[in-house]
Amino acid sequence: MEPGTVPGTDEGQAVREVAPHRRSYDALLSDIEAGLLSGETSVGDQLAGERALAEKYGISRASVREAVRILDAMGILDVPTNAGPRSGPVIISNPSRGLGSALRLHVAAKKLSVADIVETRILLETWAARTAPERSTSEDLEEARGLLEAMDAPDIGPSQFHELDARFHVALSRLGGNAVIETLMEALGGSISGYIGDAMAAMGDAPEVLDQLRGQHHAIFDAVLDGAPEDAAQLVHDHIFWLYDRARQEPADRRGSGAG
Ligand SMILES: [Zn+2]
Repeated sequence: MEPGTVPGTDEGQAVREVAPHRRSYDALLSDIEAGLLSGETSVGDQLAGERALAEKYGISRASVREAVRILDAMGILDVPTNAGPRSGPVIISNPSRGLGSALRLHVAAKKLSVADIVETRILLETWAARTAPERSTSEDLEEARGLLEAMDAPDIGPSQFHELDARFHVALSRLGGNAVIETLMEALGGSISGYIGDAMAAMGDAPEVLDQLRGQHHAIFDAVLDGAPEDAAQLVHDHIFWLYDRARQEPADRRGSGAG
């Protein structure tokens, strides 16, 4: 850095020193954002290959790769698996990808507590359940019904049940007709999965527990079909809290230190 470039005051120098270094790939990132905002580019478009982007922005190919990696993690770019040197990444929009991994890591770092995740979940899912009777489409109802039927299979194991259960809750949130709520529920999936795993472990593979969960899921879905918003919301609340309560009863030694 050249001292005295900002002439006159010591203050000017201080401002210069704390200003973050502009990353070499910032121009590429802001061009993508500007293109999406203006409509010049849209989801499904393919960017130029690595070398062409490096030349266009006057940055190294390593910087292009870093920018692409960041946008891939944020769910804005997808790198084709059979990508040759000329085929660039494709613009996608998968908002839960970036949010999901960030939320999961911050739960792991204990900045976000499981109790707060559960409260947020109750807030989002009861809203969706209350709105579902009015807004749900028949296609989305069919999807939720299909997941319920898959969970009804008598020979299903706890981990498979758990996976279908998570998908059922995302499907339920979709019935509310708000794409942001659906995205947040998808993103919360990874964080929710941890405590539900604990609850499942605590209950062992007792078949009566799975039966209880099946009954709760069917009751929620029936309330939506019956056009009973308050019942649907209450049943979702009770179901989420019932399982969380069991996760909390899980002995601390099975959850590892620090959790609890
Ligand atoms: Zn459930």
